[in-house]
Amino acid sequence: MRFSGLKRDLSALGLPLREAEPLRRHTTVRTGGEAALMAFPRTGAELERLCGYLRRREVPCFFLSGGSKVLFPDEGFPGVVVNLRTLRGLRELSPGRVEVLCGTPVAALIAYGLRKGYGGAEFLVGIPATVGGAVRMNAGAFGECMGDLVEEILILKEEGFVRWAASPGTFGYRSFRGPEGVILSAVVRLRPLGREGVRRRIERFLAARRSGQPFGVPSFGCAFRNPGEGPPAGWLIERVGLKGRSRGGAVVSPRHANFIVNTGRAASRDILDLMEEARERVHQRFGILLEPEVRIVGRA
Ligand SMILES: Cc1cc2nc3c(=O)[nH]c(=O)nc-3n(C[C@H](O)[C@H](O)[C@H](O)COP(=O)(O)OP(=O)(O)OC[C@H]3O[C@@H](n4cnc5c(N)ncnc54)[C@H](O)[C@@H]3O)c2cc1C
Repeated sequence: MRFSGLKRDLSALGLPLREAEPLRRHTTVRTGGEAALMAFPRTGAELERLCGYLRRREVPCFFLSGGSKVLFPDEGFPGVVVNLRTLRGLRELSPGRVEVLCGTPVAALIAYGLRKGYGGAEFLVGIPATVGGAVRMNAGAFGECMGDLVEEILILKEEGFVRWAASPGTFGYRSFRGPEGVILSAVVRLRPLGREGVRRRIERFLAARRSGQPFGVPSFGCAFRNPGEGPPAGWLIERVGLKGRSRGGAVVSPRHANFIVNTGRAASRDILDLMEEARERVHQRFGILLEPEVRIVGRA
């Protein structure tokens, strides 16, 4: 690595570190080369020290949470991947109102609601995301989205931590329009639906997910954003005949054409090739240019 002394300096910050860490272990699609270094901050203070250091030294870095919407290159990442999953925990502020650290799995938020009889987050069931990643991407399904639940966000910016009150303009389609930075935590408000109400919603959403999407296989969910108007991306890709199309170990899911699945030995390149083919074919036939929803690391 071209940053001499980086490992030594980061070790001096007291952070758990791993060198040459395979990224496929940290992404749900199970591809990607190695991260030169992966750092695991355990507190907001550690995260702040780490980010300050990386900024001063101009070290390339990437913030990774559940890894369920990220595609790393097969060549790996030549800097520091900051793994936010170690920043986890949920604190009840009042019944149904919780402050959740970014690396907390969304499943833990749903489980809290089920225990207490407060709901609203069940649409996230089956998504292998963290709360921070779900806020950053405004994850959504079945007409509901993360932004509907968020009251306030704590963000680490260059100048330090900033509290941001969410307003209707803070979230867009699969996007967060608040300040740039690392989301450390979010205050989430759930609704009093009763345990039975929450349980029923979980079952309904889980059944819908199982019936309409590939389930329990490596993927990153939808590859492309749905175009603003007209039919969804999956329908367009299906209509150009790409369902079941494979490249290397990657295949366009026969169940849902906007999902690309790793059958066990896919490289990121295989997935990118399939995405490129889908984009070209949809553009030729419908004149619509599909935009990737997955974060392709190394591309602007
Ligand atoms: C089986 C499956 C089903 C899915 N279903 C859905 C669905 O129904 N709806 C949907 O919207 N998505 C879905 N997804 C996609 C994915 O789960 C969401 O986009 C999710 O929000 C990503 O969260 P994550 O924690 O995995 O983030 P990551 O994939 O780790 O990161 C995603 C992006 O957010 C940034 N980021 C992550 N955490 C932070 C943070 N704390 N602060 C600042 N930036 C951050 C990363 O740098 C990256 O750019 C699905 C994925 C899978 C694998």
